[in-house]
Amino acid sequence: YTNLVLILALDAILILGVVLVFRNVRKEVKLAQNKSEFISNVSHEIRTPLALISMFAETLELGRVPTEEKKKEYYSIINKETQRLTGIVNKILSFSQMDAGKKRLSFESVNLKQVVENVLATYEYHLEKEQFIIQTELAEANINGDKDALTELLINLIDNAIKYSDKSKRIEINLLKKEGKAMLAVKDYGVGISKTDQKYIFDKFFRVSTGDLAKKQGTGLGLALVKQIVDAHNASIELKSDLGKGSTFIVSFPLEKVNNG
Ligand code: ADP
Repeated sequence: YTNLVLILALDAILILGVVLVFRNVRKEVKLAQNKSEFISNVSHEIRTPLALISMFAETLELGRVPTEEKKKEYYSIINKETQRLTGIVNKILSFSQMDAGKKRLSFESVNLKQVVENVLATYEYHLEKEQFIIQTELAEANINGDKDALTELLINLIDNAIKYSDKSKRIEINLLKKEGKAMLAVKDYGVGISKTDQKYIFDKFFRVSTGDLAKKQGTGLGLALVKQIVDAHNASIELKSDLGKGSTFIVSFPLEKVNNG
């Protein structure tokens, strides 16, 4: 009888082992696929601004610009595209540093509301131009965190909310305190994410590759970076999304322990 139990137990362990190995292999294959797509995405992402910069710089150099106004416009395109390139490169650098565990975060008391307000101020011009409505409800909440990393986290979530908003053009940002946590929610009413894709959304290099989404540019690193920053802050992130209705990303940070002594 004992032998039978032993054999059954060994069998179960064997089967579990095979299943785990199989799962791992499948995950690796998926990652390799995502990675090769990443390289082609990034090459494309970099090539487009480079082509524009080169074209407008050449036109300016050859003195083929008829008016001062046009000149200004071309300089402004060069500037914008350069910023875009810088943004892509910074994102890749940040991600790889975090991924290799090389990024040193410096933790201090951070007023999260202020971080949100500072980030939103940088979007003001763009959002107004694109006629986005952005609604905020922000409570005072202090957490122990790295201000730059938190800024990066927020920028990635807001960039995505804008990018995947489609026609709705409405974003809500809420910060509230609940059960010892500071909960930061970024909500959009855009394209949404299917239940299947939700499982992979925080994986590095993952991008939704179907429908209109495939046409949007991106690296597939934004949310992986967000997840790294969340983990470094002992926080958690939750996604609520319905295809075609929109997405809400909620990050819960432990509130800073107030020393009343
Ligand atoms: P990307 O550079 O492709 O935007 P991310 O890592 O930021 O990379 O996001 C991964 C994928 O998750 C995106 O390609 C997109 O399909 C999906 N996604 C992210 N945020 C949203 C959102 N707010 N609404 C719908 N889809 C989203």
